Amino acid sequence: MAVIVLLALICFIGVFPLNGCPIKNGLQDFHMGTFDKIAKEVAGYSDVAQKIIDLAVNGKAQNRSYERLANFTDTVGSRLSGSKNLDSAIQYMYNALKQDGLENVHLEPVKIPHWVRGEEFAMMLEPRNHTLSILGLGSSIGTPKEGITAGVLVVHSFDELHKRAREAKGKIVVFNQPFVSYGETVTYRALGASEAAKVGAVASLIRSITPFSINSPHTGWQDYQPNVPKIPTACITIEDAEMMARMAHRGKKIVIHLKMAAKTFPDADSFNTVAEIIGSKYPEQVVLISGHLDSWDVGQGAMDDGGGALISWEALSLIKDLGLRPKRTLRMVMWTGEEQGGIGANQYYNLHKVNISNFDLVMESDTGTFTPLGIEFTGNGESRAIMKEVMKLLQPINVTELADRGEGTDINMWMEAGVPGASLHVDSSRYFYFHHSDGDTVTVQNPIQMNLCSAVWAVVSYVVADLEEMLPR
Ligand SMILES: [Zn+2]
Repeated sequence: MAVIVLLALICFIGVFPLNGCPIKNGLQDFHMGTFDKIAKEVAGYSDVAQKIIDLAVNGKAQNRSYERLANFTDTVGSRLSGSKNLDSAIQYMYNALKQDGLENVHLEPVKIPHWVRGEEFAMMLEPRNHTLSILGLGSSIGTPKEGITAGVLVVHSFDELHKRAREAKGKIVVFNQPFVSYGETVTYRALGASEAAKVGAVASLIRSITPFSINSPHTGWQDYQPNVPKIPTACITIEDAEMMARMAHRGKKIVIHLKMAAKTFPDADSFNTVAEIIGSKYPEQVVLISGHLDSWDVGQGAMDDGGGALISWEALSLIKDLGLRPKRTLRMVMWTGEEQGGIGANQYYNLHKVNISNFDLVMESDTGTFTPLGIEFTGNGESRAIMKEVMKLLQPINVTELADRGEGTDINMWMEAGVPGASLHVDSSRYFYFHHSDGDTVTVQNPIQMNLCSAVWAVVSYVVADLEEMLPR
């Protein structure tokens, strides 16, 4: 033990030649030896990176991902889990990827939830008549045929609901929680109905999870808790939630009539859509690049997550068009059933985790394809140091940021199991303006921004897939 400490100390003070240090001393040793070699290797890709950037941003592929996205979403429309539209979308993509000449294009079957919104309607009857803009939340039950007419209790938090529990019985609970962040505030959408039901409410209406509104409801999945009565639940607009809060504050009695025909059917057949560029030297090793193909049933799902799916396809197209073939397999997956809790991706993980040691890097874009800033990365210190070098290759378009924590419902389980993960880091300040609403259309997308996102996605995935060694983990 003492000898090891002494040798480590000698390494540290540099008596031994840097590369000849006989002992592993973690990140420090890595930086003194292996790292220099890898950094040089990565820097050697600057010409290839420039070629990818030129093709994507100024060359023949300019605006291609945007045009493909517009064509796809204008043709197919929204793509809710279990819907005919989602089936058409998967068929459309399967054909398009084959036609593009990508390899191993195939579909992997998954059972996914099948919830249908049906007709829905909400009207404030007291203190005055006013039609509320609503969207039922995914997995909500419907109301009885004649609807529910009940008085309203407005609360701003779960705490307030618990304090005023006695007032909730027989009421429609309206949550007017402020938007803090999506991650924090979405709890109200996920748990609001069950929390309201626990104190005897007959329905719940949740202020849409968004920082911005033009009277737009924003839907999303919700979860009934076990052993709690199921009550109908929908989202309302910021405007209506705030107005009802003001009315309640003035002591006005509020009455709402709510009618929803939502229904859940048995799970439906669906597929994850896969295409590859097969690796030349280590074909069994994989860099996975992804977005999800399903969407909500409002708008066109162009932003969430048409953009992420389409730049993932574009990355493979760019690499193929340049005649490049990385050492490892580059695998693109368009997930199904993401909006219901990453159903397609979870099944994919369970089926493929037996090969987890061959997964080099998992990537997902699902926070919009706006102006890219870099990537968010999860991995150990050594792989982070390598990724920093990779990001330098994107200097020509000034997209070099390596932020903390890769994220994405569809890749989280891989990262939790120790596989390095990356998500596209964009200026997402407007993302939740449109998220899960009728406003999520191609109009939100910008071809120039998508060119840049595609370039980042292609350079990062190609270079990592082509390095001699897998990322350390
Ligand atoms: Zn999404």
